[in-house]
Amino acid sequence: MRPQFSAARSPALIASIVAVALLLSQAAPGLATNFGAGGGVMFANGAAHSFIYVGLTTNYQIASDTARTDDLNPTDINTSMNASHDAADVAVYDEDRGDVGYYGIYTCIAAANATTCNHAHVVFNLWAGLGLTAAKRISNTCHEFGHSVGLRHDNTRPTCMHDDALFPTNYTDHDRIHINGKY
Ligand SMILES: [Zn+2]
Ligand SMILES: [Zn+2]
Repeated sequence: MRPQFSAARSPALIASIVAVALLLSQAAPGLATNFGAGGGVMFANGAAHSFIYVGLTTNYQIASDTARTDDLNPTDINTSMNASHDAADVAVYDEDRGDVGYYGIYTCIAAANATTCNHAHVVFNLWAGLGLTAAKRISNTCHEFGHSVGLRHDNTRPTCMHDDALFPTNYTDHDRIHINGKY
């Protein structure tokens, strides 16, 4: 894990740490919205955004497919599956990481430059204590995949990009306008 490129969804212990990081990054010029590199989030390297699922459980395959189909593909981002791990823009995992304070985490593994990521990992936490329903899993995939195209946390609008609430299961028009303006 490379913390400087990580953006965890943090319901518990590390919530305050993430909130501080976001406040600092949001105070910088040009970063007043919930879109753009900063706070561990980076832009994708283009509108063609490919995924590889690495041993995903059926539950998270469904949630990942739903977020791609219902949330990302309706924007100017076009997702696909990639048979090559290293060539994929996003490699998706799920693991029981225990009570570590997040539902999922986005990490840029290979950056193109300071703001753009060529290859990212997303890991969803299968810890049973999270008690996730199917809808919450989709909110979770919507959220972490949102990080992979440059969306940051937004606790003021009805978007899956809330940093602690697994609701709703989609982006806002505001989010989509940002995505479509970039890609
Ligand atoms: Zn997040
Ligand atoms: Zn990888």
